[in-house]
Amino acid sequence: MIENNNEVPGYQLLAAHRPAVVVEASTSEDVRDAVRLAAARGEPVAVQATGHGLTRPLDGTGVLITTGGMTAVEVDPARRTARVEAGARWRDVIDAAAPHGLAPLSGSLPGVGAVSYTLGGGIGVLARRYGFAADHVRRVDLVTADGELRQVTHKTDPGLFWALRGGGGNFGVVTGIEIELMPVARLYGGTLTFDLARTPELLPAWYRWTAGLPEEMTSAVAAIALPGQHTGTVRIAYLGSQKDGDELLEPLRAMNPLADEVQEIPFTRSEAVFAEPDQPHAYRGDNLLLDAVDPDKLPALVERAGPGAPAMCVVGLRHLGGALSRPAGIPNAVGHRDAGYLLGVLSPTTPEQVPEVRALHDELLEPWSPHAVGRSLNFLFDDLDDLDAQEKIESAFDPADYWKLTALKADLDPAGLFRANFPLLPG
Ligand SMILES: Cc1cc2nc3c(=O)[nH]c(=O)nc-3n(C[C@H](O)[C@H](O)[C@H](O)COP(=O)(O)OP(=O)(O)OC[C@H]3O[C@@H](n4cnc5c(N)ncnc54)[C@H](O)[C@@H]3O)c2cc1C
Repeated sequence: MIENNNEVPGYQLLAAHRPAVVVEASTSEDVRDAVRLAAARGEPVAVQATGHGLTRPLDGTGVLITTGGMTAVEVDPARRTARVEAGARWRDVIDAAAPHGLAPLSGSLPGVGAVSYTLGGGIGVLARRYGFAADHVRRVDLVTADGELRQVTHKTDPGLFWALRGGGGNFGVVTGIEIELMPVARLYGGTLTFDLARTPELLPAWYRWTAGLPEEMTSAVAAIALPGQHTGTVRIAYLGSQKDGDELLEPLRAMNPLADEVQEIPFTRSEAVFAEPDQPHAYRGDNLLLDAVDPDKLPALVERAGPGAPAMCVVGLRHLGGALSRPAGIPNAVGHRDAGYLLGVLSPTTPEQVPEVRALHDELLEPWSPHAVGRSLNFLFDDLDDLDAQEKIESAFDPADYWKLTALKADLDPAGLFRANFPLLPG
C-alpha cells in the first residue's frame, strides 16, 4: 500500500487516476484488503490494469488497485480453458494458449487487458465466428463490497454471473476469470490499404461486400485522415483456407489497393489484422450499434471526417452478426445482438480540443441515429461522469436488462464503493 498524491499513468493520456492510496496487488488477498480499506475509509475503489479504458479517474480521493502484478495465465488444454488473472493482457493469454493450438477471443490490440475487455462484452478478431468474449466465460472470481472473495458461476450465483458478463466493473473487483479457448492456431488476415482519393467508393463497396459473408469472415472498414493523405483500410480475419479467402477477397482486391498485407498468419500475430498503435496516447471515441446501414450516407461521412475535418478522425464500421447475433449458451447482460454493424469514430486529441472533438463525433453519428439500436460499451472512450454519459451507458443494454442491472448494483453495492468504468447508476 502506498499513500499517494501523484498521477498513476496508463495508456489513455487524456486523464490519470490521482488516488489517495495505491494498492499494487499481487494476490486476491491484496485485492480483498484494498476493498476493505476503501470501505473503512468511506472512499471509492477503482481498478487499473493497463489504462486503455480509463473513463472515470479518481481525483484526490479513493483507493486505486493496480493489477499489473497479477498477470498469470494457466491453460488447461484438455478442457480448452484458461484461468486469467486480473492484470493479464491478451498478449499473455494468446502466448500461453498458442502452444496448445488454442486462442482466446481477443480483440484488435493484444496490449488491452483481458478482464475488463471481457466484462464489457468483448468484440474480437474472430467475433462473427465465436461471438462475444463474455459469452465464453465459465467463472469469475470477484471481491464484492462486503470484502468477500466469491467464485461466481452459473451455479453459485446465476444473477450475478449474468450481470458480470456485459455489465462492466460495477459489481466488484475481479481477481481472475476462467474463459473458454477456441481451437484456432492460424488465420488468413491482415489489411488492405486504399487511397480514398482514388477509391472514394470503398466504404459502400465494403458494406455491399459483407452481405452474405460466412461467419468465418470477420472484417472492418475505416477511413483515416492522415496528414496529406486520406487512407481507407479493410481489416480481414478469415478462419477458412487461403484459397477460399482469396476467392472472397476478389471484389475488394479488384479495387486496386495501395497495399495488400492479407496473408496466412499464426494467431500469435493476430494484431496484424488491425495494426493499431501500442503507444500510450490521448484519444476520444464514440460509437453506435446499427441494425441497418444506408450505404448512400457513407460518402458524406467519409468526406466530413476527412482531411478537412476540424479534428483528425478515424471513422469505420465493424461487421457484426454471425455468432454475435445468437444468444450466449448461458445468458448474459450483453445487449443488442440484433446490431449488424458497429459504427465507430475515434480521434487523437489534446485536452483543450476535447469539446471540439466531441461536437464533431456527435455531428458525424447523428445522421445514423434512426438505425441505432444502442452503443457498445467497450468502444466508448469518453469521460463517463456526466448525465449524457449515463444515457450512453443505458443505451448499451436492452431496457429490461438495464433495470435488472441497476437493481443488482443497488443491492450489492449500496454505498457505490466501486467506481466502475461504465457506471450503471450516476454518482
Ligand atoms: C487501442 C484499443 C483497442 C481496443 N480494441 C478492442 C476490441 O477489439 N474489442 C473490444 O471489445 N474492445 C476493445 N477495446 C476496448 C477495451 O476492451 C476497453 O477499453 C477495456 O476496458 C480496456 O481494459 P484494460 O484493462 O486494458 O484498461 P483499464 O483502463 O486498465 O481498465 C478499464 C476499466 O475496467 C475496469 N476494470 C479493470 N480491471 C478490472 C477488474 N479486475 N475488476 C473490475 N473492473 C476492472 C476499471 O473500471 C477500469 O477503469 C480497445 C481499446 C483500445 C484503447
